[in-house]
Amino acid sequence: MIRLQGKGVSTGVAAGPLYFYRRGGGEIERHEIADPAAEFERFESARLLAIEQLKGLYEKALAEVGEESAQLFEAHQLMLDDLDYIESVQGMINDKVNAEAAVSDTAEIFAEMFANMDDAYMQARAADVRDISNRVIGILSGAVAGGIDSAVPVILASDDLAPSETVQLDKSKILGFVTRGGSGNSHTAILARTMGIPAICGVGDALAESLEGKDILIDGQTGEVVFDADEITRDRLIKKQAKERALKELLEQLKGQPNVTTDGKSIMVYCNIGSPEDVEAVLRNDGGGIGLFRSEFLYLQNDDYPTEEQQFLAYKTVAERMGGKRVIIRTLDIGADKQADYFKLDHEENPAMGLRAIRICLTRPEVFRTQLRALYRASAYGKIAIMFPMITSVWEVQEIKRICANVREELTREGIPMADYVELGIMIETPASVMLSDRLAKEVDFFSVGTNDLTQYTLAVDRQGQNLDRFFDAHHPAVLRMLKMAADNAHAAGIWIGICGELGADVALTETFLAIGIDELSVSPSSVLPLRSTIRSIDSTAKRDEILKEIASN
Ligand code: PEP
Ligand code: MG
Repeated sequence: MIRLQGKGVSTGVAAGPLYFYRRGGGEIERHEIADPAAEFERFESARLLAIEQLKGLYEKALAEVGEESAQLFEAHQLMLDDLDYIESVQGMINDKVNAEAAVSDTAEIFAEMFANMDDAYMQARAADVRDISNRVIGILSGAVAGGIDSAVPVILASDDLAPSETVQLDKSKILGFVTRGGSGNSHTAILARTMGIPAICGVGDALAESLEGKDILIDGQTGEVVFDADEITRDRLIKKQAKERALKELLEQLKGQPNVTTDGKSIMVYCNIGSPEDVEAVLRNDGGGIGLFRSEFLYLQNDDYPTEEQQFLAYKTVAERMGGKRVIIRTLDIGADKQADYFKLDHEENPAMGLRAIRICLTRPEVFRTQLRALYRASAYGKIAIMFPMITSVWEVQEIKRICANVREELTREGIPMADYVELGIMIETPASVMLSDRLAKEVDFFSVGTNDLTQYTLAVDRQGQNLDRFFDAHHPAVLRMLKMAADNAHAAGIWIGICGELGADVALTETFLAIGIDELSVSPSSVLPLRSTIRSIDSTAKRDEILKEIASN
């Protein structure tokens, strides 16, 4: 038995084989081959497998984001069947070049050819030919699409996963996560909580690749990781798992019940999602709406800017599936730790303070306008609200509102239907936005506090930092005072305020949030029912004065 210790970041016990995430990319291998016929066979098998994968992606995209977006995968299948492309690879293989190098060189020749064409549509095909070729190279070199090549569900291990990797994971294959690095705010942790499965981070280098395939038990509450457990340990953890399942069943009874305290105060409990497929978990857990739809997924899973049509279909799908419940879609929050290569952002020493989120949108209005057009068009199909991240100044909000009004006018001129009124809100996630919340509240319909970034910027602690857990204290009195200040200013201006950062699900603070007057909590779908249970056990007046006094004096 081997026992390792990490930090539990998503509760629950899971058991299964350990599997390391397969990362593609890196240098293309080049060597002379002896048998061109056998090498071409190898290429052919990889090409056909790539076509199969693309068929699967087409079906997935069709179900999640609609026909228009799915067509890309169909086009990619056709490109892989192109005779000129195949003959080019074959010619190089006949010259004794290995298949990986032949595919890579062919991709470059074709990409250059497309890039030099006059037609903008054809120019854009350069990225497609590189994309399909990378898929084939990935298969040839043993890298795996979606990162997991296992017939059975696994406990997924990695150093940590980038946001662009988490969006492409085959989630049906994951029982739990265990990472060497990462933190409670990492995207792996957020994904695990959305999926309602256990996760442990910060296990360190003892999580060696030689452990792959071993039976492992993880406890996402305590951070315990056990390989080849002895009978006593296995028994203890499996009993705990059974207890958790029973508790989950008990919580099921709360479905359909209101989020109301014993003294009759109600609070909205919404969900955070990262892709349209998460809507299912929202509905299953009885979320009252969507308080944060991180629209980045559309940008991170694409090799080029998602079109207006692709975005429109994704937003429309979510709005329709939520059937009239509020869906707050946050405009793109790229930059910092969420990078998409085609944005071609300069390398920054301090990316969390750099060109990210709304700063990109205001610097590149064409990208912003495309997203806003898609959002307003989708507003005709449900109750969409739009939220803007990383606000620090009143002028930013005024400029955003001007652009929004302009986009609305444009769509009206084009005769495109929209909702009569679309709520506009901002994230309160910088100290500046808290200090200006009295003025900002007069500009918008709602506030939603992003405690992940607000804690990072207020305490000057990197939210991704590995050895900073002690200092990343979202319960810090400075953070709680900021919440109180923003809430008071929101209410004075007659608007509502929610929390969509991870802190919203922390039931140790639910009573505090009620005392402060928070109107909405947006949490991962798996946290809805536990939070409802806590809300329903609280008398919001009992300790209100005491709590407020403590916030003011701590
Ligand atoms: C936050 O900062 O709290 C937040 C909800 O946004 P994200 O985690 O996507 O930065
Ligand atoms: Mg944030």
